[in-house]
Amino acid sequence: IGNGASLKVDRIRVGYGKTVALHGISLEVGAGEIVALIGANGAGKSTTLRAISGLLKCAEGQVTWGGQSITNWAVDRIVAAGIAHCPEERHVWPNMSVQENLALGAYLCRSKAEIERRIGIAFHRFPRLKERSRQLAGTLSGGEQQMLAIARALMSEPRLLMLDEPSLGLSPKMADEVFDVVREINRHGVTVLLVEQNVHNALSVASRAYVVETGRVAASRDAASLLGDPALLNAYLGGE
Ligand code: ATP
Repeated sequence: IGNGASLKVDRIRVGYGKTVALHGISLEVGAGEIVALIGANGAGKSTTLRAISGLLKCAEGQVTWGGQSITNWAVDRIVAAGIAHCPEERHVWPNMSVQENLALGAYLCRSKAEIERRIGIAFHRFPRLKERSRQLAGTLSGGEQQMLAIARALMSEPRLLMLDEPSLGLSPKMADEVFDVVREINRHGVTVLLVEQNVHNALSVASRAYVVETGRVAASRDAASLLGDPALLNAYLGGE
């Protein structure tokens, strides 16, 4: 993996209307890393991912990807540059089949053969989705829908995958499967930025983490040292 897959977020300010949600967040994700954003509800983790993927505009600050500024680029252009965002609550299209959901993940790709090739890769990685290729996505289990959402995000062949709360609402066993998949994707060279409410899961898969508190980075540490500091985790996350 070259430098092309490194992300730098520099003092971004982002709001919803007049409400400022991010008061100058800065973070870095090196090529090939898995980095987690942790923090209490409403701290600004999802907002950070939305700003990186172009869904929200930055009023101030810079987002740099592979050395190039992508600040306030259109969403499609950011996808084309190699960044995929798998949002909270999955949002698979319930009345479309697994296969159709996957095809739509490659919406920027014009070649039918290439889309077929990528679906083949997805089915190889997610055999359970292959078994259910014609099943409507809305009838999948929560864990299967999460796998589909991840597989769909991978259809754009990103070099950075951003995952928002991938274990939300899943059983511990399904959550473990999702994190195994995240590790495997990373082993295949995809850089990962992960937002996760479950701190222990997040810190078991990530090598580093940023603690976000009310729109700011309150701490940045390697995962092992955060896991070994329950007082710090308690202070920012409230009883986790
Ligand atoms: P959670 O895990 O609960 O989503 P989070 O850390 O991801 O928490 P954000 O969702 O980024 O937090 O929210 C940051 C702030 O922005 C909060 O104060 C929230 O109320 C506000 N906010 C989030 N989404 C919107 C929205 N669509 N409109 C207005 N305010 C919003």
